[in-house]
Amino acid sequence: MFTDTEVMTKEKEDYMQVFARYPIVLDHGDGPYLYDTKGKKYLDFLAGIAVNVVGHNYKPLVDAISKQAAKLIHCSNLYYTEVQVEAAEKLKQLSGMDKVFFANSGAEANEGAIKLARKYTTTKNPEKYEIISAKHSFHGRTLATLTATGQDKYHQGLGPLPEGFSYVTYNDKEEIAKAISDKTCAVLLEAIQGEGGVYVPDDDYLPYVRELCDKHGALLIIDEIQAGMGRTGTFFGYEQFGIKADIVTLAKGLAGGVPIGAFMALNHIAEAFAPGDHGSTFGGNLLACAGACVVLDAMLTGGLLDNVNALGAYLKEKLQALQKKYPVLVKDVRGKGLILGMELSQPGRDIVNQCLDKGLIINCTAGNVLRFVPPLIITKAHVDEMISTLDSVLAKQ
Ligand SMILES: *Cc1c(COP(=O)(O)O)cnc(C)c1O
Repeated sequence: MFTDTEVMTKEKEDYMQVFARYPIVLDHGDGPYLYDTKGKKYLDFLAGIAVNVVGHNYKPLVDAISKQAAKLIHCSNLYYTEVQVEAAEKLKQLSGMDKVFFANSGAEANEGAIKLARKYTTTKNPEKYEIISAKHSFHGRTLATLTATGQDKYHQGLGPLPEGFSYVTYNDKEEIAKAISDKTCAVLLEAIQGEGGVYVPDDDYLPYVRELCDKHGALLIIDEIQAGMGRTGTFFGYEQFGIKADIVTLAKGLAGGVPIGAFMALNHIAEAFAPGDHGSTFGGNLLACAGACVVLDAMLTGGLLDNVNALGAYLKEKLQALQKKYPVLVKDVRGKGLILGMELSQPGRDIVNQCLDKGLIINCTAGNVLRFVPPLIITKAHVDEMISTLDSVLAKQ
């Protein structure tokens, strides 16, 4: 057994130093609460970055993965398993997509989506391989997905990067109209930019991009890894804008915390993959699929989306009230459902630290945007508790 201090020093000695961690050692959770090793309680409005959608220690999830673990933890994709198909069926029902491939993470889901898009367009035209993505986007850390990520800081020192990627300003119709051409294989966008600072596009942006893609025979890939899984109040974030994607990617909340990723496509696109064109040892892992079934059921029959719509509106209203109360400090409140951001006129890190001291977990993205992506099961009482802590911290700035 290690003391907290030992855990923190040993982490520095043993673990590759790529994370800036907060100085607490977490032990367990319950609903929207986390507890550290000393028993201190934290209200979790980050949910492992939009992952723990049904909260912590959710009995149906714990039971489903325990039951599955006792049967089979892993099974090669050389064989059939029922739970994998159950997860796929539920996902099809919620998504309106035809076919799915299960991966293990968001980056892998996007990597697979890019491969599928390339395969689909380049078989007909080898020149049609260009991928357009947005500045300030985030798509993952594999070489292709970090290249698609339109932020220089993720590219430094890693070249040569894969070819054929270019970037446009998000929410700028003129720029994308100029950038797209008959060589465009796909446009890859988030329906709401998460890591980039919780940016919601104008209502007509995604419909316009959809039209441009159709005009140029390019595929529209929507990365729903953060904004999907019901977080905006509809299953996919892009449904808020009345469009359909050709390929869509999911991960984060899909199995409530068990590692999983997925990309889905319409049949005529999915058919571009033949046996052997893609694969994964762990993809479609049985624990992950058992977890996904529980989360998807919560959306299909458990009323989770209704809760997001009700609580999202309530949280936004309360955040806007704080904006009125602190008009100099708070520049903007934006987002949809339970993916909300509060843009500050100063860096957010101190505020995040002070909230942590007071038992509230939130985070800050893009330097000065406080991000709220709580478990989707929260109640008004949790929102009130969060707002009261945040208010007391903002008052001291
Ligand atoms: C988190 C995230 C990813 C990457 O997911 P990983 O599981 O960390 O690989 C990709 N796209 C978006 C929009 C994300 O928020």
